[in-house]
Amino acid sequence: MIGRFAELLAARRRRWESICRQCGACCYRKEWRGSALVVNWDAPCRFLDSASRRCTVYERRFPACPDCKRMTLYHALFTSWLPDSCGYVRAFRRWPRTTARDARRPARQRV
Ligand code: SF4
Ligand code: SF4
Repeated sequence: MIGRFAELLAARRRRWESICRQCGACCYRKEWRGSALVVNWDAPCRFLDSASRRCTVYERRFPACPDCKRMTLYHALFTSWLPDSCGYVRAFRRWPRTTARDARRPARQRV
Protein backbone atom coordinates (compact mmCIF):
# COMPACT_ATOMS: atom_id res chain seq x y z
CA MET A 1 0.00 0.00 0.00
CA ILE A 2 2.75 2.45 0.98
CA GLY A 3 4.79 1.33 -2.03
CA ARG A 4 1.86 2.03 -4.36
CA PHE A 5 1.37 5.46 -2.80
CA ALA A 6 5.06 6.27 -3.27
CA GLU A 7 4.81 5.15 -6.91
CA LEU A 8 1.82 7.42 -7.49
CA LEU A 9 3.63 10.34 -5.88
CA ALA A 10 6.71 9.71 -8.01
CA ALA A 11 4.60 9.52 -11.18
CA ARG A 12 2.84 12.73 -10.25
CA ARG A 13 6.18 14.44 -9.65
CA ARG A 14 7.52 13.21 -13.01
CA ARG A 15 4.43 14.58 -14.77
CA TRP A 16 4.87 17.92 -13.01
CA GLU A 17 8.57 18.12 -13.85
CA SER A 18 7.93 17.18 -17.47
CA ILE A 19 6.23 20.59 -17.88
CA CYS A 20 9.65 22.23 -17.53
CA ARG A 21 11.17 23.12 -20.91
CA GLN A 22 14.67 23.27 -19.47
CA CYS A 23 15.41 26.79 -20.53
CA GLY A 24 17.50 27.27 -17.38
CA ALA A 25 15.98 30.62 -16.37
CA CYS A 26 15.41 29.28 -12.85
CA CYS A 27 19.11 28.65 -12.49
CA TYR A 28 20.36 32.23 -12.62
CA ARG A 29 20.54 34.68 -9.78
CA LYS A 30 17.56 36.99 -9.44
CA GLU A 31 17.96 40.61 -8.49
CA TRP A 32 15.83 43.66 -7.94
CA ARG A 33 15.93 46.33 -10.60
CA GLY A 34 13.71 49.10 -9.36
CA SER A 35 10.53 47.37 -8.28
CA ALA A 36 11.02 44.33 -10.54
CA LEU A 37 12.77 41.08 -9.68
CA VAL A 38 14.61 40.00 -12.83
CA VAL A 39 16.96 37.24 -13.93
CA ASN A 40 20.63 38.20 -14.04
CA TRP A 41 21.78 36.19 -17.06
CA ASP A 42 25.41 36.85 -16.14
CA ALA A 43 25.15 35.00 -12.84
CA PRO A 44 24.34 31.31 -13.33
CA CYS A 45 24.14 28.76 -10.54
CA ARG A 46 27.50 27.02 -10.22
CA PHE A 47 25.83 23.71 -11.04
CA LEU A 48 24.39 24.86 -14.33
CA ASP A 49 26.08 23.69 -17.53
CA SER A 50 25.89 26.99 -19.36
CA ALA A 51 26.16 25.41 -22.82
CA SER A 52 23.31 22.93 -22.47
CA ARG A 53 21.43 24.86 -19.72
CA ARG A 54 21.18 21.55 -17.85
CA CYS A 55 21.66 21.05 -14.15
CA THR A 56 24.73 18.92 -13.47
CA VAL A 57 23.40 17.70 -10.11
CA TYR A 58 19.70 17.37 -10.92
CA GLU A 59 18.92 14.29 -8.82
CA ARG A 60 20.51 15.81 -5.72
CA ARG A 61 19.99 19.47 -6.51
CA PHE A 62 18.21 20.45 -3.30
CA PRO A 63 20.86 19.17 -0.87
CA ALA A 64 23.63 20.34 -3.23
CA CYS A 65 22.33 23.87 -3.68
CA PRO A 66 20.53 25.67 -0.85
CA ASP A 67 19.27 28.32 -3.29
CA CYS A 68 17.60 25.76 -5.53
CA LYS A 69 13.84 25.78 -5.10
CA ARG A 70 11.22 23.35 -6.32
CA MET A 71 8.78 24.84 -8.79
CA THR A 72 5.31 24.99 -7.28
CA LEU A 73 1.88 25.94 -8.55
CA TYR A 74 2.28 29.24 -6.70
CA HIS A 75 5.47 29.98 -8.66
CA ALA A 76 3.80 28.89 -11.87
CA LEU A 77 0.96 31.32 -11.31
CA PHE A 78 2.58 34.31 -9.68
CA THR A 79 6.39 34.44 -9.93
CA SER A 80 7.18 37.62 -11.82
CA TRP A 81 10.61 36.76 -13.22
CA LEU A 82 9.62 33.56 -15.01
CA PRO A 83 9.92 34.06 -18.77
CA ASP A 84 6.79 33.81 -20.88
CA SER A 85 8.38 30.81 -22.57
CA CYS A 86 8.50 28.84 -19.29
CA GLY A 87 6.49 25.65 -19.55
CA TYR A 88 4.67 26.37 -16.27
CA VAL A 89 3.75 29.90 -17.37
CA ARG A 90 2.40 28.51 -20.62
CA ALA A 91 0.48 25.80 -18.84
CA PHE A 92 -1.07 27.84 -16.04
CA ARG A 93 -1.28 31.51 -16.97
CA ARG A 94 -4.04 31.97 -19.44
CA TRP A 95 -4.62 35.68 -19.02
CA PRO A 96 -3.26 38.17 -21.57
CA ARG A 97 0.14 39.74 -20.89
CA THR A 98 0.52 43.48 -20.72
CA THR A 99 4.31 43.55 -20.75
CA ALA A 100 6.96 41.46 -22.46
CA ARG A 101 9.17 39.97 -19.75
CA ASP A 102 12.64 38.85 -20.44
CA ALA A 103 13.32 39.32 -24.12
CA ARG A 104 16.30 36.96 -24.10
CA ARG A 105 15.34 33.68 -25.74
CA PRO A 106 16.17 30.51 -23.90
CA ALA A 107 18.83 28.30 -25.44
CA ARG A 108 16.56 25.25 -25.45
CA GLN A 109 13.08 25.61 -26.80
CA ARG A 110 10.84 22.86 -27.97
CA VAL A 111 8.48 25.02 -30.00
S1 SF4 B 1 11.93 28.87 -16.32
FE1 SF4 B 1 10.37 27.27 -16.44
S2 SF4 B 1 10.86 26.08 -18.24
FE2 SF4 B 1 12.68 27.28 -17.69
S3 SF4 B 1 13.90 25.93 -16.39
FE3 SF4 B 1 12.61 27.15 -15.05
S4 SF4 B 1 10.77 25.92 -14.72
FE4 SF4 B 1 11.82 25.07 -16.48
S1 SF4 C 1 21.13 23.21 -8.53
FE1 SF4 C 1 19.08 24.05 -8.96
S2 SF4 C 1 19.48 26.20 -9.52
FE2 SF4 C 1 21.43 25.10 -9.69
S3 SF4 C 1 21.56 24.42 -11.81
FE3 SF4 C 1 20.64 22.75 -10.64
S4 SF4 C 1 18.40 23.05 -10.84
FE4 SF4 C 1 19.43 24.99 -11.40
